[in-house]
Amino acid sequence: MFDNQGLKCKLGITTFPLKRVPVFVFVHRTTYLTLYMLFISTPVGTSIILGLLIVSWWWIFFRKKKRRTIRFPDAWASILTNKVAFYRQLSAPDRIRFEENVLQFLDDVQITGVSIEVDDTDRLLVAASAVIPLFGFPGWRYRNLNEVLLYEGTFNQEYETQKGEDINTLGMVGEGSMNRMMILSKPALHQGFEDNQSKHNVGIHEFVHLLDKADGMIDGVPQMFLEQPYLIPWMKMMQKEIEAIKDGASDIPFYGSTNEAEFLSVVSEYFFQNPKQMEIKHPELYALFEKAFRYQSSS
Ligand SMILES: [Zn+2]
Repeated sequence: MFDNQGLKCKLGITTFPLKRVPVFVFVHRTTYLTLYMLFISTPVGTSIILGLLIVSWWWIFFRKKKRRTIRFPDAWASILTNKVAFYRQLSAPDRIRFEENVLQFLDDVQITGVSIEVDDTDRLLVAASAVIPLFGFPGWRYRNLNEVLLYEGTFNQEYETQKGEDINTLGMVGEGSMNRMMILSKPALHQGFEDNQSKHNVGIHEFVHLLDKADGMIDGVPQMFLEQPYLIPWMKMMQKEIEAIKDGASDIPFYGSTNEAEFLSVVSEYFFQNPKQMEIKHPELYALFEKAFRYQSSS
């Protein structure tokens, strides 16, 4: 950039008014430029310049990664401590990993309120719902989700909240035009974290559907994370437990008997919300879920 006073470099660090450039500076710059041109005309010079370029690019990339690793705000840690029992019972290093996963999720997925305000607690509860089922899989991320919509209440299959039929849905994984989206009722999301002795958490429920979907089908058989030897025992156990629910001989919520996909999501809610009780009442099923989610509760 030139002005009538002289020459300025782009960063504004060095200023030499043109009229007053000393002779030794002129000689120094000319010599430097000549040596530089000679240097890059040799194979060694070219290699060094290329090497420096590669290092520069790596450095830029590295600094970008570092910049994203922001410190988890204390206020957010307090919200998680108050609201999320799963987070509370983690060891200190696991809490840090949980927080990193939350930041990664919030970086990957947009959370939007539909005609409602969305605050930090709402975002953190959505993120916690996502992080909990994947906590046994370090490095895994939801590649099949772009956005979570929060509704002010229940809705129906046509995404209607006021008028229409069957406005009783609490959460949904989008299909068709809503692919890569999830809808959650904000009050139901909060309710799921209010009572950690319950077997209900709509956030966890919907994110488990998303994991189930990762192999292409929402069918109750999460092939992406259930190892091959456990697939047959898994299917047999599912049929047996679904029959028990239908017969009224199980404490698993009745909605779990709707089909295999709902069974997986409903039992996952139970597994993460109230593992102690599930281990006592359903030891075999509990052991299979521990293997599937690669997670052992310390409670
Ligand atoms: Zn469901």
